[in-house]
Amino acid sequence: MSITSEIQHLHQKLPATTRLVAVSKFHPVEAIEEAYAAGQRIFGESRVQELCEKRPVLPQNIEWHFIGHLQTNKIKQIVPFVSLIHGVDSAKLLKEINKEGEKIGRVVPCLLQIFVAQEETKFGLSPDECRALVRNLEHFPNVQICGLMGMASLTDNQAQIRAEFEQLKALFDELKTTINNSAFKELSMGMSEDYPLAVECGSTMVRIGSRIFGFRQY
Ligand SMILES: *Cc1c(COP(=O)(O)O)cnc(C)c1O
Repeated sequence: MSITSEIQHLHQKLPATTRLVAVSKFHPVEAIEEAYAAGQRIFGESRVQELCEKRPVLPQNIEWHFIGHLQTNKIKQIVPFVSLIHGVDSAKLLKEINKEGEKIGRVVPCLLQIFVAQEETKFGLSPDECRALVRNLEHFPNVQICGLMGMASLTDNQAQIRAEFEQLKALFDELKTTINNSAFKELSMGMSEDYPLAVECGSTMVRIGSRIFGFRQY
């Protein structure tokens, strides 16, 4: 299927409560232009330099989401314009984003990344680390925590993937009560291979790359 037909298909298939983040990392601006022409407005990138090269040559009303691991020395390049940072995985990163937001007088929308997968991946807060951070949000007035983000294990075991998404959703519901702020409403989970399950489990944002744009050339 073409980029256009994949975008149209996903827009039709996803429930109104789930937004599509088209993950365009490692794909050229022409591919993004095609998705844009098909009506897509939210794009996700995982490298600061790539994002900062693509943005100036593309339509200005694109909502750019940063979905990768963010290094502290690169934060200031994206803080002025980024619509959502999906992967805040440490108190240190939160502090640095807050600092850069304060410098330019912007409140930066972010999600806390939670580690739920069984495998050894490097990034993400444990549920308890996340609870602790959430108790201290008043120290970060230039960051708006809009919800949680997570990735399920890379496995064919559907029951395991579902259990991990359900774990994320349960933590999301718990924190929603604690935080009691209407801005806390996003649950970013689901990728090309597992997004239908994520939607069933309550995802409000799916991050889909290869299903739309094909395989990435690294
Ligand atoms: C690359 C990436 C995606 C998209 O993955 P696909 O399997 O190509 O859909 C989603 N989320 C994150 C965090 C990514 O790094």
